[in-house]
Amino acid sequence: MVRSKNLKVRNIRAAVLRKKGGPLKIETLSMEGPQDTEVLIRTVASGVCHTDISMVHHWEKADGPQVLGHEGAGIVELIGKKVKAVRPGDHVVLSYQSCGTCRPCKSGRPTRCRRFYELNFGFHRLDGSNALEPSGVHGHFFGQSSFSSHILATERNIVKVSKKLPLSILAPLGCGIQTGAGTVMNTLHVQRGASIAIFGTGAVGLAAVMAARIVHAYPIIGVDITPSRLKLALELGATHIINSRINDVASGINKIIAGGVDYVLEITGNHRMLQLAIEVIKKRGTAAFFTGDGVPDFVPKGKKAVAVIEGDSVPQLFIPKLIKLYLSGKFPFDRLLKLYNFKDINRAMKDSRNGKTIKPVLCIGNEKGQSGYGH
Ligand SMILES: [Zn+2]
Ligand SMILES: [Zn+2]
Repeated sequence: MVRSKNLKVRNIRAAVLRKKGGPLKIETLSMEGPQDTEVLIRTVASGVCHTDISMVHHWEKADGPQVLGHEGAGIVELIGKKVKAVRPGDHVVLSYQSCGTCRPCKSGRPTRCRRFYELNFGFHRLDGSNALEPSGVHGHFFGQSSFSSHILATERNIVKVSKKLPLSILAPLGCGIQTGAGTVMNTLHVQRGASIAIFGTGAVGLAAVMAARIVHAYPIIGVDITPSRLKLALELGATHIINSRINDVASGINKIIAGGVDYVLEITGNHRMLQLAIEVIKKRGTAAFFTGDGVPDFVPKGKKAVAVIEGDSVPQLFIPKLIKLYLSGKFPFDRLLKLYNFKDINRAMKDSRNGKTIKPVLCIGNEKGQSGYGH
């Protein structure tokens, strides 16, 4: 691991993963930074995403201790010499990291960054160093590690937002919500009157349902096994719902729209649903799959399967757009959220895993004033 020189070290409080399956424990750590291109943010809130939970359950000893969290929001405390986009006191929402110099980044497609995997799952900075090295803990998850009192980010993965909106509401926009809405609006460009089925009505799926309503898709079919989520899908824009535990999905969709749907979003990761997604799209239809879940081995000629990353969203463009839609009442994503105290992080993860909570948000610091953690 590369060690940065001559950087200030401060104490932070962060939830550390040291054991497969958790629990995460809140510890005091030493953090070095910010570097010239970095922004030090005092965390106010962080969403909990399924990727965080999956990391906890796939952790191995060789991974070493980690700080997870990648839907942070907070207040800028310090900026490096080369930072221009924000100033201390600005409110920011954090998103995924990208390098900014590869061809996809240069052409405005940061989700296709050649270093995407490394920068979001590699637990280090662009230069290979790690700000939590003095404590022997790995940080920089998605260029943030937001389960922490402080975050080090760069201009590339922060979005300046209005101070009028609570950061605890805005936090989850940076991953799950932008992924669901972005898949409908940026990846698939779903048009008015196009038919769409959404397999899995968790946070990503419900964001997709709301986006499908905004673009006037029809029908919008929500598929899930949890009645409470299906009910919410109906309230947020689904025109039809199918409980896949009770009903056959393929015949259910065929009854609603003969010949299949134009689009399917497969968010469950369930093997049977993966194949079904391809089956229920009509000829020339597209099925969208999400990173980690893979794409089915066999896709018949004429049908299309796409692997989606973060809904092909450019955070600095798409997050302000989602906030605007939220303020106009068309995108009430706040209905998916439940707030938890930071110390209850393990309960928040459990509630998300068993479907009790759609999108947990951890309240980590105060919206105003100091965090109270030492520097
Ligand atoms: Zn790049
Ligand atoms: Zn995520």
